[in-house]
Amino acid sequence: MGKLIDGKQIAKDLRAAVAVQTEKLATQGITPGLAVILVGDDPASEIYVRNKERAAGKVGVNAQTIKYPADASEAEVLAKIAELNADDSVDAILVQSPVPSQIDEHKVQEAIDPRKDVDGFHPENIGRLYANREGYYPVANTPRGIMTMLHHEGVDVAGKHVVVIGRSILVGRPMAALLQGANATVSLLHRYTPASLTELLVSEADVVIVATGVAGLIKGSELKAGAVVIDVGINRLEDGSLVGDVDFASAEPVASLITPVPGGVGPMTIATLLQTTVELAAQHHGVALEDPWQTI
Ligand code: NAD
Repeated sequence: MGKLIDGKQIAKDLRAAVAVQTEKLATQGITPGLAVILVGDDPASEIYVRNKERAAGKVGVNAQTIKYPADASEAEVLAKIAELNADDSVDAILVQSPVPSQIDEHKVQEAIDPRKDVDGFHPENIGRLYANREGYYPVANTPRGIMTMLHHEGVDVAGKHVVVIGRSILVGRPMAALLQGANATVSLLHRYTPASLTELLVSEADVVIVATGVAGLIKGSELKAGAVVIDVGINRLEDGSLVGDVDFASAEPVASLITPVPGGVGPMTIATLLQTTVELAAQHHGVALEDPWQTI
């Protein structure tokens, strides 16, 4: 029977570790500053942003949300980013996705100073990740949070075959790059991967990470016995319940370790965002943090 990976608890431990770091920075007069730009009134985005702000306050990160109406111009948002780039009290900037169609999301992401790019979406930081550069730079928080979970659970991916399903720039692609950097052999599958090939690769995988937004895409009968299963998907069913991209009931008896939905990957994302914010603040002020990549 699969052991549950308790993302809620690991995220709690990570937030506690981040709070210790902010206390250390406070002794040097540094309060990490996170600026979140929210354009429009998408209710899900408002909830995400409120959660980020609340979680930040609890670990000693000074978060501010800058709200714009849905008809805000791209120029307005770019001007605000330029102001935040120049603001010494701001260490980390993110623009909540999605933005209204009159705003070019890529242009906005590229306007953020790469040294304040807390989501890791700036092409410079993506390039560093793909080049497997040494040294510190921000990377996307969801895949990084998954690496933290795997590390926490003692799963060493070096030499393992990891199947990642979904190739978005938010999750699947940076996930594959991080895993390759950690010496895994990675198969990156997506909606155009033939079903027979998916079946073959998943049946051979030591670790399966699913980020597609398709409820119940992967079933237990497709997994290798003892596989580690990480379910990134968040899907709301008609009855209001939340499920992942993995059919939990059939996968759990086959897996050695499995993340639940909710309570798995989700809580790690915000905790990792705070971790990255504090690291960017330390970098900004020239303070060395112990082991920035593996806080817990
Ligand atoms: P996306 O829509 O940008 O990308 C989905 C990817 O899945 C694409 O690469 C697509 O090719 C692939 N895909 C779609 N259908 C498929 C199929 N039938 N077979 C194989 N591949 C298929 O989505 P995203 O932003 O990467 O998010 C994916 C899921 O993860 C969503 O449910 C989202 O809500 C969730 N998510 C969770 C967190 C978190 O913190 N837990 C963070 C980000 C995203």
